[in-house]
Amino acid sequence: MNYATTSISIIAEYVGRAWRPHMRLEKAGSGPLFLPVHLKTRLDAIVNGMTVEHATDLPVAVCRECDWVIQVPSRAPGESVHCPRCNHHIAPPAQSDRQRPLAWAMAALIMLALVFAFDFLSFSTRGVSHTMSFFDAARTMAGHDYPSLAVLLFCTTVGLPGAYLLAVVFLLWQASRHKAGAATRALARQLRPLEPWMMSDVFIVGVLVSLIKIVTLADVSIGLSFIAFCIYALLVLRTFMLIDWPALWADLAPMPALHTHLETGRTGASQNLVVCRGCDMPFPNDRGKCPRCGGRHIAHAIDRIQLTWALLITAVILYIPANIYPIMSTTSLGSTDPQTIVGGVLHLAHTGSWPIALVIFVASVVVPISKIVALAWLCLTATYRWHHNSRTQMRLYRVTEKIGRWSMIDVFVVAVLVALVRAGALMAIEPGPAALCFAAVVIITMIAALTFDTRQLWDETFEMNTR
Ligand SMILES: [Zn+2]
Ligand SMILES: [Zn+2]
Ligand SMILES: [Zn+2]
Repeated sequence: MNYATTSISIIAEYVGRAWRPHMRLEKAGSGPLFLPVHLKTRLDAIVNGMTVEHATDLPVAVCRECDWVIQVPSRAPGESVHCPRCNHHIAPPAQSDRQRPLAWAMAALIMLALVFAFDFLSFSTRGVSHTMSFFDAARTMAGHDYPSLAVLLFCTTVGLPGAYLLAVVFLLWQASRHKAGAATRALARQLRPLEPWMMSDVFIVGVLVSLIKIVTLADVSIGLSFIAFCIYALLVLRTFMLIDWPALWADLAPMPALHTHLETGRTGASQNLVVCRGCDMPFPNDRGKCPRCGGRHIAHAIDRIQLTWALLITAVILYIPANIYPIMSTTSLGSTDPQTIVGGVLHLAHTGSWPIALVIFVASVVVPISKIVALAWLCLTATYRWHHNSRTQMRLYRVTEKIGRWSMIDVFVVAVLVALVRAGALMAIEPGPAALCFAAVVIITMIAALTFDTRQLWDETFEMNTR
């Protein structure tokens, strides 16, 4: 009888553990690799006889988007922390196992290697066929006097994500050893600003659009490399989602003591406090560098709106040649047909590919123009302090920041078509100067969005019930 109850309770415990895998972490024997810092502190507290409350003193964070000072509760697995004022995610859902992104990053790197091992796409028309590898997309652009576009294509789709994934693997390994030198911390603070520049998902849409564009003219087929690329892009997105930066930073380098009293429910600026852009550590404004990662902070005093305006005006000027010059020209049996961005959209609409015409129109016309208008509006809002609707303004900024990279679709379409459609005199596609101008517009508006300081959209007060 006693034996039966014991075995039932053991089985129940195992089922319970399988059901809630994070419970395993609280066992002392689970090894240093998988024991997160806050649980380790709690364990140390129990071992050393301190009270749990004392050991897990709630840390204070400053929201990097609206400058509000809040207390960060310790998260159970799956729980995330959001800023009460602007809803910025201070901390993503906590992972029961902090080494989890490691597996995803490694899988993504393996898929990336496979991208280069096979053919990407192949094309044939009237007996002439041509096969391209992924590398050809960048190489052909360089061969057509657009080396900058080749570099852009290579960096945004595989170069930066590859470097990012390698760095993530390295950082997680360092985090498991709980020691990180100055160089490791300098590397860690560089990674998050890279995230908007990784466009492998945008490239996939670009490839699909270009396939639909030429499917009526020639036979195209998808190679193993393209499938590997799609899996790679998904794995990269999954890795982004799983990395818990606050926890990773806590493992790499715990926050040094501040020796200043922080009041929550006020702005950081009113307490002469800034938040590090690299590691999210709050520290006094008069210190030049972040005490944890060594990154230099953007002082509140510096007015960067002028810079945002300058970039927006540059983008508007460049958008004119981007629409006047052809983005690509198709040569078929001796006749050359140059196409502008809008011309391409109209051609697609005439030939009946409405959905694709709409995709290109939204990505190349609607998104850049609305992005420039929205950022200009936000600059005015910040300058004249129209703070009556900060939440909506913040939402507008976030949408602007998120959608900007999708404008790259048309540039990627040109890159893929130029590399793929190479049937000599029968049919060939050349890139046009507008491709370069348009890529510059996309990049400059992205930089403009990044230079905009969202803290300027908020004032010193906060009413809980305004939503
Ligand atoms: Zn906030
Ligand atoms: Zn956010
Ligand atoms: Zn820092």
